[in-house]
Amino acid sequence: MNIILLGPPGAGKGTQAHHLVATRNMIQLSTGDMLREAKESGTEMGRKVAEVMARGDLVTDDIVIGLIREKLEGDKGGGFIFDGFPRTLPQADALGKLLADCGETLDAVIEMQVDDDALVDRIKARSTCGGCGAVYNDNTKPIPVDGICTTCGKKNEFIRRADDNEEALRNRLMEYYKKTSPLIGYYYAKDMLSTVDGLGEIEDVRAAVANALGG
Ligand code: AMP
Repeated sequence: MNIILLGPPGAGKGTQAHHLVATRNMIQLSTGDMLREAKESGTEMGRKVAEVMARGDLVTDDIVIGLIREKLEGDKGGGFIFDGFPRTLPQADALGKLLADCGETLDAVIEMQVDDDALVDRIKARSTCGGCGAVYNDNTKPIPVDGICTTCGKKNEFIRRADDNEEALRNRLMEYYKKTSPLIGYYYAKDMLSTVDGLGEIEDVRAAVANALGG
């Protein structure tokens, strides 16, 4: 089963993707994570990508489609979770073609809905474990006092993303509404869209996602 988690920054896509990886052996393909890796590579491409990401703009379609194409050639596990991809209509068209080319289908698109004020509050409070990507929140899931990640056990690896500041976030939200939100109609018209309330407790959101995937 191959699925897309669709939603604005801070909607909880990564958190839900981690759970699906742990429970269903699915493979998370987060273009944001891939681009952050490329940024660390020290290449010219990495440097350009870093500037775009710091502003909260979108990286070009060609770059992200190329990253996804490479991953589709690898291990398919229990299916792919596309997290943060596609983000534009050309990316959505490209994904359809790439999946068809390797004999795969897209089985569900889950839109995670979260009120905008809640998104901004969440992102300002967010940190992630550099070891495993587990997401923490100053208010709802603070970093443990002993500094040890409850998921992977690494110590003091917590990081705040450079683009989780108010200015870049406003830009990321604007990019979402201008370029990504049309995908809601696109997948609705393809009869693939389910919507879950992303604002509830993590357990409730997990249950809603499982329900959208047929249990
Ligand atoms: P994310 O971790 O999904 O919030 O992505 C972080 C940043 O990476 C975004 O603000 C964009 O600059 C870039 N990015 C991630 N995925 C994409 C994509 N599918 N298309 C274009 N840019 C992307």
